[in-house]
Amino acid sequence: MNSVKRLLTLLSVMFLIGILILAGGWALSRGASAILLGIINYGLLMGAIAFFALTFLLIYAIIMLRAEKVIPKPLKNGVRLSIRLLYPIIVGIGKPLGYDKKTIRNAYAQLNNHLILSNEYQFKGEEIMILTPHCLQKSTCGLRVTQNPDLCKRCGQCNVDDLVGLKEKYGIQLAIATGGTLARRKIMEMKPKAIIAVACERDLISGLQDVKDLPVLAIVNRRPEGPCVNTEMDIEQVELGIRHFLKE
Ligand code: SF4
Repeated sequence: MNSVKRLLTLLSVMFLIGILILAGGWALSRGASAILLGIINYGLLMGAIAFFALTFLLIYAIIMLRAEKVIPKPLKNGVRLSIRLLYPIIVGIGKPLGYDKKTIRNAYAQLNNHLILSNEYQFKGEEIMILTPHCLQKSTCGLRVTQNPDLCKRCGQCNVDDLVGLKEKYGIQLAIATGGTLARRKIMEMKPKAIIAVACERDLISGLQDVKDLPVLAIVNRRPEGPCVNTEMDIEQVELGIRHFLKE
């Protein structure tokens, strides 16, 4: 939740910067000709309305997340849009202010999940897909589970074992991908209606930007041995996600 709090502070700073830019633009336009003045004012007004509305929606979403309250249905699409559109601006402004991308991405994943978990779904098991990167597999295991997770011998040395267990229990689809391109291909082939994605913050946010039309629950993995090797996941969180999409 700390990353969400930090994002809230950053958004407040953004709000202030927006006001300063608006005030600066207004001050500069005072010496301009009438036509130029009209263009500047119109541009400023439209840009300011869009910027402040999106930023306000995101601040509102974070406050609701922190208060563990549900975002009202009519506002959800606006929040989703602001999450998507403001991301590059937030990263751009956050960098000189000392905000690392990981913190922003982590907060974004939490916001996304808050929206998904506040919606109701009723999918069948086979319409739900778990998508996870190859680094989840124990590095010493030579089985080709990326081609077929059922090849896993269920030895319990990595979370692939747990995921195959969930696949059998709920009849869901499971894909273990070696990269973003393969992950996108698996989504196109399997045609899920909902996805539970487990990955690092960077891959999750990139995936969320790619998959716009499906609900995606984004679960950040654990990296006890550093990035991209022998990663782990919170299997209970994954199972809760499945049950949410199944509406059990
Ligand atoms: S659980 Fe499956 S994938 Fe993981 S090490 Fe054992 S056999 Fe390999």
